Amino acid sequence: MTTNYLNDWLRPNIRSLKPYSSARDEFHGEASVFLDANENPYNEPYNRYPDPMQRELKQQISYLKDLAPEYIFTGNGSDEAIDLVIRAFCEPATDNIVTITPSYGMYEVAAHINRVDCIKVPLTNDFKLDAGAVLDAVDNHTKVIYLCSPNNPTGNLLNRDEIYRILKYFKGPVVIDEAYIDFASSPSFTRGLVSFPNLIVLQTLSKAWGAAGIRLGMAFASPGIIAVLNKIKYPYNVSRLTQEYALEVLRQEERMKEQLIGILHERTRLETALQQLPFVRKVYPSDANFILVRVNDANATYNFLVEKKVIVRNRHTVALCEDCIRITVGTPEENRQLLKALNEMKP
Ligand SMILES: *Cc1c(COP(=O)(O)O)cnc(C)c1O
Repeated sequence: MTTNYLNDWLRPNIRSLKPYSSARDEFHGEASVFLDANENPYNEPYNRYPDPMQRELKQQISYLKDLAPEYIFTGNGSDEAIDLVIRAFCEPATDNIVTITPSYGMYEVAAHINRVDCIKVPLTNDFKLDAGAVLDAVDNHTKVIYLCSPNNPTGNLLNRDEIYRILKYFKGPVVIDEAYIDFASSPSFTRGLVSFPNLIVLQTLSKAWGAAGIRLGMAFASPGIIAVLNKIKYPYNVSRLTQEYALEVLRQEERMKEQLIGILHERTRLETALQQLPFVRKVYPSDANFILVRVNDANATYNFLVEKKVIVRNRHTVALCEDCIRITVGTPEENRQLLKALNEMKP
């Protein structure tokens, strides 16, 4: 089932692992009496274990993303896939991952939880990806490269040609975290799955789809990689409640797109208004639903906003983000309150 290519990169114990087989794995289908999983027979439908392979949900995702279900993994947020990829490919105390900085903090945390080193390659001063620098950081123990586009906290898309260089010259798995892709002006990398068997694309219901509370993340990759993630996940990693609500959300793509238009409109309005403020040094262009802003004094701005009961993210201590705050685009009313507060601040 898994390709030869992949076998070379997997941890040997994962390659040879015989996965747990649940009652729902061994029999799934129509029957009238289910006495195979030690469930309480009352309290339908939540007395029953959920579908361990999330088939109906993947069918809907397959339709939306125009990808066969064998290319789709669903888990407890993108965070689950971030962790599983490290556990599948990286030997603790030996291997490492390479990622960029500044970026999403979970790649490093997931690596460290698994006692895997994390090599961080800085973006350029204007937050561009330098593929050569990333490839130079790869050593014999590098098993996965993590990229994030649009990147968090910088908000920009990474250059496609630089990403393609990495996909081409690094033969191991390359993860592209696309949590914010729906807000972006550029298409998803899922189209690249055909040409790059080492590509893993992550998306989520937590941002544009407005469902962070239910915890549903998606990984798209060649069937060999998806089969490995399925082999090592918890058997029932997505609850029935989450599967049901995710289906409901994904069936309302039109609603999502309407909200998207509103959020993008507000993003432009916020960008313009922020640029007028005397203590704002730079408003970074965004392909996401947040804006990175460099101010004269990030700590003072952050604390002032907290007093006004408006919470933004202080990124002052993050690499290349000195005196930067990250502002999520809210409703028109929330953004009005933010701007009102900022206009009351002394430069
Ligand atoms: C918010 C975010 C996610 C979402 O993670 P979930 O576990 O799916 O909620 C993933 N990656 C990045 C870069 C994010 O900013």
